[in-house]
Amino acid sequence: MKHTPISDALTKMPVGTTITVKGWVRTFRSNRFIALNDGSTIENIQAVVDFEKFDEKVLRQINTGACLKISGDLVSSIGSGQKVEIQVVTLDVLGGADPEKYPLQPKKHSLEFLREQAHLRFRTSTFSAVFRIRHAASFAIHKYFNDRGFFNIHSPIITASDAEGAGEMFRVSTLDATNPPKNELGTADFSQDFFERETHLTVSGQLEAELAALALSKVYTFGPTFRAENSNTSRHLAEFWMIEPEVAFNDLHDNMDLAEDFLKYIVKYVLQHCAADLAFLDKRLQDEEKGKPKNERTEQTLLEKLQFVAENNFVRLSYTEAIEILRNSKPNKKKKFKYLIEEWGADLQSEHERYLVEQHFKCPVILFDYPAKIKAFYMRLNDDGKTVRAMDVLFPGIGEIVGGSQREERLEVLKEKMTQFEIDHEQLYWYLDTRRFGSCVHSGFGLGFERLVQFVTGMSNIRDVIPFPRTPGKAEF
Ligand code: ATP
Ligand code: MN
Repeated sequence: MKHTPISDALTKMPVGTTITVKGWVRTFRSNRFIALNDGSTIENIQAVVDFEKFDEKVLRQINTGACLKISGDLVSSIGSGQKVEIQVVTLDVLGGADPEKYPLQPKKHSLEFLREQAHLRFRTSTFSAVFRIRHAASFAIHKYFNDRGFFNIHSPIITASDAEGAGEMFRVSTLDATNPPKNELGTADFSQDFFERETHLTVSGQLEAELAALALSKVYTFGPTFRAENSNTSRHLAEFWMIEPEVAFNDLHDNMDLAEDFLKYIVKYVLQHCAADLAFLDKRLQDEEKGKPKNERTEQTLLEKLQFVAENNFVRLSYTEAIEILRNSKPNKKKKFKYLIEEWGADLQSEHERYLVEQHFKCPVILFDYPAKIKAFYMRLNDDGKTVRAMDVLFPGIGEIVGGSQREERLEVLKEKMTQFEIDHEQLYWYLDTRRFGSCVHSGFGLGFERLVQFVTGMSNIRDVIPFPRTPGKAEF
């Protein structure tokens, strides 16, 4: 018999039908009640065994973590917490789980402990909820762009350009790392390497997306990106997924409109399609908050926060205005910031971004027109000669979630900028070609997918929203 996903068994199947379900045991109580979960939903189905009808040997194998196939009749449940349950007729243990050795016992485990059990943590309510939501957000992203006439471009993962300036890169090489062939200078001779040049894992698909946008008008990439930055923070991974839309004829304001509309759409989509998982995570967070001292608790619940972002306009202000606010802020005057804001031109740290969003405006903020010196070479120079048309979207609890800009479309200005940033014109000739032939105003941004998933799930550490996190010293699974 075909088996029924537990989500369907709980919501779609009429009482009285005989069904088969397969899944993993969450708990087995009183030698009678099995809570079975197959990941199709956060809910477990309750299966009731009449222990007199089953062999003791079978019953002994119904342990937390064991995989079962259960057939029986779907009946109304008199117990609280569920509408229907299964009266078990046949029960097969597909895969046992030794209760002495199975690490996930039915009790609360810390997220840190579960990170060490990344191969099994999918089987917890928290992580299955997170990964179902992650899927929904990913699907919504493709849907958003597809419905609006964007084309998905698969930008390369291996790249020869190291000019993007977005962070430290991982080398890709087939040379013998312990004894590479040497050139006249005595350093590794990459002309003998696989690609006959130095190559790395990409830190961004933007430059390639620009090439496509200047032909297909509206494109986006959604792929893995790699940064060998040694930042052990709750918001950085060495391997993360990035969404990078790039649009011909969009200026900075169109770009901000797109980012805001896009983010709200994803949040609304998740609110609409992941209600049960969100309700679970919301409750989880509220329980966690109760354990904190009053002054450290957040004011909004997860659901309130998501609704707030979906329904309210983001504040937009220039970097220059932000610096004024920060300079006169309490934490700056009382020297509470780790990095004090003294003058225009300072790079904003996460503490400053979060102050603006969480304390000052209490709302997502888009900052624009940053000093040219602290931003990448490809951002369009403003007429003041010192700021560029950059924009960062800052979110509560996260800080920077999106970084983008209007791109420098003027060949001479771009070349000048590359010279200043000591970027080889020859190496990026293909990028410059778009400015030589049919250049136009265009803009785009990068959204860190995991930071978005962090936001919508309320998970405080980025390592808990990607199945197998890569961070300094960690690549076990
Ligand atoms: P940050 O200052 O937070 O390190 P960034 O300025 O290096 O970010 P960008 O180069 O603009 O970030 O990348 C675009 C987006 O990619 C960021 O807004 C963020 O959402 C995400 N991002 C950047 N670095 C990482 C990382 N190491 N892990 C996860 N997401 C990241
Ligand atoms: Mn960074």
